[in-house]
Parts: sequence; C-alpha cells; structure tokens
Amino acid sequence: MQFGYYMPTRIFFGQGCVVQNQAEFAKWGKRALIVTGRNSARVSGALQDVCAALDEQNIAWEIFDQIGENPTFAMVEAGGAAGRNFRPDMVVAIGGGSPLDAAKAIAVLTVNEIAAAQLYDGNYAVEPLPILAVPITAGTGSEVTQYSVLTDAERQTKRGFAQASLFAKAAFLDARYTQSLSHAVTVDTAVDALSHCVEGYFAKRATVISDALALEAIRRFGEVCGELDKPEISLAVREVLLYVSMLGGMVIAQTSTTAVHALGYSLTYFHQVPHGRANGLLMGEYLQFHAETAPDKIDCLLAAMQMQSIDEFKQWLDNLFPGKTCLTEQQVEEYAVLAAKTANIANTLRQPDHAELKQLLRKSLIVGGEG
Ligand code: NAP
Ligand code: FE
Repeated sequence: MQFGYYMPTRIFFGQGCVVQNQAEFAKWGKRALIVTGRNSARVSGALQDVCAALDEQNIAWEIFDQIGENPTFAMVEAGGAAGRNFRPDMVVAIGGGSPLDAAKAIAVLTVNEIAAAQLYDGNYAVEPLPILAVPITAGTGSEVTQYSVLTDAERQTKRGFAQASLFAKAAFLDARYTQSLSHAVTVDTAVDALSHCVEGYFAKRATVISDALALEAIRRFGEVCGELDKPEISLAVREVLLYVSMLGGMVIAQTSTTAVHALGYSLTYFHQVPHGRANGLLMGEYLQFHAETAPDKIDCLLAAMQMQSIDEFKQWLDNLFPGKTCLTEQQVEEYAVLAAKTANIANTLRQPDHAELKQLLRKSLIVGGEG
C-alpha cells in the first residue's frame, strides 16, 4: 500500500453550526470580507447567521455579493479590488460552488495584485487570506477542496487551479440552508456530488482512503436517490446530500476529477448546461466505459447504489434528466480536443483516447448534422 492523505479543513456539521461555533471566526482576525452570490446567501438564511456570528465576535464585515454562476476572471478581479479596499483578515465564503470557488481566488487577489489568469501559476508572493466556507448547495464539496474553478474565456473552457493554501480553514455545513434551493438545482448539485465520488473511485489517483470515503458516500446517496424525483425533498434527505457532497469533496481533494468533468465543462461553457447536470448526462456511459477495466469496482458501486446493473443506473439518470443536449459532429470533435488538453483525462482509470472521448459524447448525447 502506498498513499497520502491531506485535508486540513476543520468541519462543523449540523443544524445551527454557524452560530454554535462562532468562536472559530475570531481565530482568524478582526475583519471579514463576505464573498457570495446575488441572492442565495440571504434567501437561505446563511448570511443572517454569519453576520450575527461575526457581530457577536466583534468582527467587522463587508459583503461582496457580485459572484454569478460559473465565475469569470472579471468577477474575481472585482472581488480582489473590493478586498484591497476593505483590507480584511479573512474571507468568509457563502454560496454554492460558484461563490466558494470565487472566494478562494479573491483570498489570493486581495493580497496579491495580479491578473486572474496568473492564479493558475501558483507560487503567490503573499499567502492567500484564510477562508471560512459556508456551503449552501449540496454538490461541489468546494468547502473541503483546494480547487477553484473559473471560466477562462480565452481558452473557451472552465479551468481549475489547485493550491493547498486554498483549503478552507473551517467549513460550516447546515442543511437548512439548502432548503431554499429549487428542485432543479437540488438535483443538479446532488448529481455533481455523486459524480465526484464516482469519478474519484475510477481515478488513477484513487487511494484506499478515497475509495472508502467514496463508497460510504455512494452508499448514503443510494439510500436517498429515489427521493430526488419527488416534488418535495425533506430536510433529512437534504442533510444526507450535504454529507455526501462533503465526502465527495474529500474524495476529489485526493484524486481530482476525471473524464466526466473534462467533457462536461464544454456542455456548460458552450450550451449553458448546469455543471451537475452536465456530469449526470455523461456518467452512465462513463461507467459502461469502465465495465471491463474495473468489474469489481463496478460491482461495489452498483451494490452501494442498491442497483442491479449499469443499465439501471443509466435509466435512473435518464429519468432525472429527460431531454438530452444536442451536438453536431463538429462540436463532438472540438469538445473531445478540449477535454484531451486537461489533466483529468490522464487521471481516468481507463484513459480514453480521442476516438473514445468522441464515442462517450455520442453515446451520452444526441448527435447529428455537420453544424
Ligand atoms: P452555483 O453556481 O454556486 O449556484 C447555482 C444557482 O443556485 C445560483 O443561481 C445560486 O444563486 C443558486 N443557489 C445557490 N444556493 C442556493 C440556496 N441555498 N437557495 C437558493 N438558491 C441557491 O451552483 P453549484 O452547483 O453549487 O456550483 C457550481 C460551480 O462549482 C461550478 O462553477 C463548478 O465548476 C464548480 N465546482 C467546483 C468544485 C471544487 O472542488 N471547487 C467541484 C465541482 C464544481 P446566487 O447566484 O444568488 O448565488
Ligand atoms: Fe463538480
């Protein structure tokens, strides 16, 4: 056996955890820049709890709420400028993956006056500010990862950077904040979380620990996946989804993601398919692609999902995401080229070549015409 494990984020999980553990904020200074999206932090109740906790701890705060979905370089540069004005000691991130990832970039840009494109170079002259994360979707697991994914318009894709210094110092996970999510975002984000576990399980970088975390998460997901197509999703189910999402983040913090995320980025960038749904459209064929390479892992995964076959898994996803994205043959060619440029492909347990990437897209989506 040979493996490493590193995940330095202190986790507080459970209803009321922000207020109950408010002393944690005071460990990181006297001024907090709150980075969030336009509405959801308020609607979910998370912002009120964080502000009350900061007030109680005599921490001055300012809100930067200009982060939209699939954050751009311009958004994080504006956040960095806001940070340099306010001079915070810490960044408190509240949101789905978009604000959480943007907050990591802003924690760097506040103390390093560099262009967002330089975030990918690493080796920042000044250590990023400490980050405290409050996820309000159950999907990305960004509160326990060292990754930040931004939209890179020049390269026409979404691109992540990874720095150990970008792990949040603490994460506060309260499932009540996910109750204001629409049904569609709840499902999309839940499938993103599952995808992290599945991809991590079928990653070259998988370890005994990441596999244990992935299987625990998939097993818990399997217990509630039948609830996702019901109109109302209970708080108890949401709590499981938040737990799964956190475990999924702990998995990819070790393994990184693979071909599903690499191909999915083009569906999001060019077709505005939400991130989790993009992964969901591709995950069934991804499993099929591994059927002969890793039959034991397929069996374990299906057992954890309480499913009999890959076909049943595909059928479940088809039901969740009716209506496939339509691509032209030319787009299939282009997206396979873009995906092949990512490190995710080399990390896929059965590494797909160019022709196989195109096949994965063709089998997962509706393809026709020359565009
Ligand atoms: P998101 O883009 O953060 O949010 C999606 C939408 O849901 C937004 O309109 C948001 O509103 C709304 N919303 C979020 N939480 C809500 C709540 N509690 N109640 C009501 N509305 C809410 O979605 P996400 O799927 O969590 O994040 C996706 C991003 O994370 C992508 O950019 C993806 O690439 C990235 N990602 C990162 C990692 C990582 O390890 N760092 C892993 C996977 C994915 P507002 O605009 O008001 O916020
Ligand atoms: Fe993801």
